[in-house]
Amino acid sequence: MKTEWNLSVALSNLRLFLSLPFLCLLAISLPVMADWTNRQAAIMGTRITVEVFHPQKIFAEKAIDAVMDEMRRIDKSMSPFITDSLLSSINRSAATTDVKITPELFTLLQTAQHFSELTHGAFDISFASAGFLYDYRNRIRPDTDKLSESVDTIDYHNIQLNETNHSIHFSKTGVKIDLGGIAKGHAVDRSINILKKMGIKQALVTAGGDSRVLGDRQGDAWKIGVRNPRDQNLVSVLIPLENTAISTSGDYERFFEEDGVRYHHILDPKTGDSARELQSVTIIGPDATTTDALSTSVFVLGRKKGLALINRLPDIDAILIDHTGKLFYSAELEP
Ligand code: ADP
Ligand code: MG
Repeated sequence: MKTEWNLSVALSNLRLFLSLPFLCLLAISLPVMADWTNRQAAIMGTRITVEVFHPQKIFAEKAIDAVMDEMRRIDKSMSPFITDSLLSSINRSAATTDVKITPELFTLLQTAQHFSELTHGAFDISFASAGFLYDYRNRIRPDTDKLSESVDTIDYHNIQLNETNHSIHFSKTGVKIDLGGIAKGHAVDRSINILKKMGIKQALVTAGGDSRVLGDRQGDAWKIGVRNPRDQNLVSVLIPLENTAISTSGDYERFFEEDGVRYHHILDPKTGDSARELQSVTIIGPDATTTDALSTSVFVLGRKKGLALINRLPDIDAILIDHTGKLFYSAELEP
């Protein structure tokens, strides 16, 4: 479907790398070459890395500026932490009135709803109805009563999108939404499109656990590592990729432990509690919006249901690490 998705190259090379005893999503850079320009910045609550190939340094810097501006623009509109973001105003008002939103956000919300349908509600941006009760940095979680009350408001069917006037309405009070499971992927895709329009043919854009590569890296594949969920200095799998997106969701990004139980930021919408069957899920696919949403989804679905879903989807592959640290692959990647 997407011509750029060069799965066969990725897969044939991938087998060579699966056994490497390394482990965060980090791009392994080849020796620095003069025509490559890269920059990092902290935006969207995460680390953004952009690397582009262009013989003119000034042009490359301009292209990176454009990507960083795009990331900041999306953050301003979609962050739940910025009180005057469009997302925050939706959460304040959509239960009482129709809130008019931008075509961009409308389309992304439709995409989020599509993934909710596809995953039978494992992916659900209204998880935030309970999610806002957690504060991982300050080790705060809701008590059982509070949690069960708020879990009743998690249901993507409560999010009503009106196509005729591009508005959103919540059919229940207490509903809140959060795009943390899909917005970074969206931002990465938008960034890659900006770079393409500027004539860039080879680039990497990473936002936290979501990356997309354009072209190759000077005749070689890009190498993206999946970290060991319990040791950030170790790479579990190194994946060669070209013209592809890759996302990893892990239980180590935002969490705290209490009585040996890990409370982390990926919630099962059925319980409002963290999903604990897996430690990390990596999804490889044509675009980062898809891989971002699916990595969160499969994390919630668990190994069996998650792999069954991925094996049904064309052009999508997955690498899972379960709660014992064991690796599992979707059918196409099976070593
Ligand atoms: P990150 O790269 O931020 O670690 P992930 O892609 O793994 O992100 O998604 C985790 C984020 O997704 C959480 O911080 C939260 O904002 C959101 N999220 C958590 N649970 C769900 C869910 N069941 N459905 C949709 N989004 C979720
Ligand atoms: Mg995700």
